[in-house]
Amino acid sequence: MGNSLSNQVWDQLICSDCGGGLIKTNQGASCVHCGLVFPYSASGSLDLRLQRPKKYRLDFELGSPLLSEPDFNFNPLQVNKNPQVDYSNVPAPRHLTKDILSYFPKAKSNASLMLDLGSGSGIHKQVSQHAGFEWVGMDYEAPQAQILGDGHSLPFKDETFEFILCVTVLQYLRYPLVMMREAHRVLKPNGKIIGTVAFLEPSHGTSFYHHSHLGTYNSLQYGGFKVEHLAPSKEWSVLIALANMGLFHGMPRPIAQALITPLQIFHKFWWQLGGLISRRNVEQTRIRHFTGSFTFIASKQGVS
Ligand SMILES: [Zn+2]
Repeated sequence: MGNSLSNQVWDQLICSDCGGGLIKTNQGASCVHCGLVFPYSASGSLDLRLQRPKKYRLDFELGSPLLSEPDFNFNPLQVNKNPQVDYSNVPAPRHLTKDILSYFPKAKSNASLMLDLGSGSGIHKQVSQHAGFEWVGMDYEAPQAQILGDGHSLPFKDETFEFILCVTVLQYLRYPLVMMREAHRVLKPNGKIIGTVAFLEPSHGTSFYHHSHLGTYNSLQYGGFKVEHLAPSKEWSVLIALANMGLFHGMPRPIAQALITPLQIFHKFWWQLGGLISRRNVEQTRIRHFTGSFTFIASKQGVS
């Protein structure tokens, strides 16, 4: 919770409204520049969310190429053969897979910070600490978060984090391009961002922009990131997403999943038949057209 934040994290906090420094108080924090007071929430999270509307200006370069590498492929993620961190004995939390964990960076020192942007109930804490990071959990509203914050206006100094995790968050942002700019700002040069974003999932009630492969690439590139991998989920297909998220409202999930099984089998057979007729390997294309979400791995260029 917020009142358990380390001094190292406190040193990196800024006012989400004006960017001024914060002073720690008994009630929370106050901004030395604009005087805003940021309280602890009822659950003890430091509430650094915006308290009033704030202007944020974006600029666009029209006509520039989207793909920095024209032959960039959008194939499913393969396990990293040279992982920096050994996760073989660590279970993957919900929404992450062993394939994704194999790309996690290792903390450079015991002072390295990582931001779990949209940390929810804190299920990524263990895998983040396993890589040697001090975990900083920020969420817009989850009571378990250390910090309540807005992804559009991150309450951290420039170049605070070595690693940002952003799992199934981007679709909830009203202005995802702003969040990407903010994530890029608070990441250290050569830092990494890893995340997932909804694609062919039903509406989440509060989701704004579900991202296609090109949409995700565009958002990352706009933020300033170099995209390393952008992969459709093999495990989370549109049919599984539908079965889990309301195709048969109120039905127990095992029954809903059993009902879609024949369609999944026929779907795979149909694509394989098409591949045989056209004499092309269509498996990668099949997964990309059928996925419920994309995984992205990108980095901030520069000299640290
Ligand atoms: Zn301020």
